[in-house]
Amino acid sequence: MFNKESETLQHSKLKEMQYERMKWSLRHAYENVPFYKKSFDDTGFHPDQFRSLDDMQRVPFLMKQDMRANYPFGLFAVPMEKVVRLHSSSGTTGNATVVGYTKNDLDVWGEVIARTIACAGGGPKDIIQVAYGYGLFTGGLGVHYGVEKIGATVVPVSGGNTERQLMLIKDFGTTMLACTPSYAINMTDYVEKNKPDFDFRKTKLRSGIFGAEPWTEQMRREIESRMGIDAYDIYGLSEVIGPGVSCECSEKSGLHVFEDHFYVEVIDPETGEILPEGEMGEIVYTSLTKEACPVIRYRSRDITRLYHDGCKCGRSFIKMEKVTGRSDDMLIIRGVNVFPSQIEAVLMENENTEPHYQIIIDRTGALDDIEIMVEVNERIFSDEIKVLNQLSNRIRQRIQSVLGISAKITLVEPRTIARSEGKAVRVIDKRKLK
Ligand SMILES: [Zn+2]
Repeated sequence: MFNKESETLQHSKLKEMQYERMKWSLRHAYENVPFYKKSFDDTGFHPDQFRSLDDMQRVPFLMKQDMRANYPFGLFAVPMEKVVRLHSSSGTTGNATVVGYTKNDLDVWGEVIARTIACAGGGPKDIIQVAYGYGLFTGGLGVHYGVEKIGATVVPVSGGNTERQLMLIKDFGTTMLACTPSYAINMTDYVEKNKPDFDFRKTKLRSGIFGAEPWTEQMRREIESRMGIDAYDIYGLSEVIGPGVSCECSEKSGLHVFEDHFYVEVIDPETGEILPEGEMGEIVYTSLTKEACPVIRYRSRDITRLYHDGCKCGRSFIKMEKVTGRSDDMLIIRGVNVFPSQIEAVLMENENTEPHYQIIIDRTGALDDIEIMVEVNERIFSDEIKVLNQLSNRIRQRIQSVLGISAKITLVEPRTIARSEGKAVRVIDKRKLK
């Protein structure tokens, strides 16, 4: 549901509410979780000293490794008898992180997902097929209860078994699909290969809420045109609550953060300083109402920026840009923070470039040089040199205006950049070798 009372709160009222809730959350964490008590004490911060939101700078961060070190229940702030649900990350790198929920936490979660569905234009009349995985992963059950909360009909099919997914879309008259964007693309590939008679446009499907992995505007266009639907980005992380931290509205121009439950800051990943609104950096989360697992200044490593744009949908909550990368990937070139994903986004604007590129950074004297090697497709490669020059000029200008750095652009023949079986080698930083 569109919770007008909360979601259109005046800025000053919201800040008052956040301050009151923050005071509670800091105290709750400090008094009930030995980790927070120690971490606050070590930096000389006490919740009694918290006089305004400007004091956030003094509150220590919570890192991913702190969560792992406290595996499984070390960060819980309530006794186990109050915890009614556990979820866990897959733990592909190091220990898994475990999160718990009280009854109230589940209510809040249902509420923010119900708002997410409303944000994407959904309501009680919708039939929502949840093709996120059910289980310890927060995607499936997280979305599930929000669907029920808004009074829509949930189809809890979970992930995989594409043949059955398609059958249900058709037979049950699914109107909204919830899954990862890559699985949505898989479904369309499957249809093109195996089911020439199946036409998404002849089903009742009209929208989708896609998340749990970063995706580009190009993927949005592809899903929208191949399925004939509106595709909305939803964002969340299990450490904070799961899906339901923020979501896109009808404008599709950034994701509104549910600021009455989650306080957000963007920091410089190098210095930890809070950056002014609008600047790109690492997003940091603090839960304002969570009982079982409060997170205080959790460093997500996700890179984005926050801004108000007087959104036409009427929601006053701050927006975050689609997450484009991780702070672990950040490069510093001539003092400017640059993320390979920003460069990739610029390259993907051109239809004649391939998604294969390499960024080479070197230093001549005191200056950093950056060269971007970009593969072009067959079609343009056989074209006149003038056309190729125009393309490289256009990329250079876009890099300059988007990133604020000048780069040398080298277009290379199709299939000349080495392919990798695993993670592609995008960056070669020769500065480190000197
Ligand atoms: Zn909006």
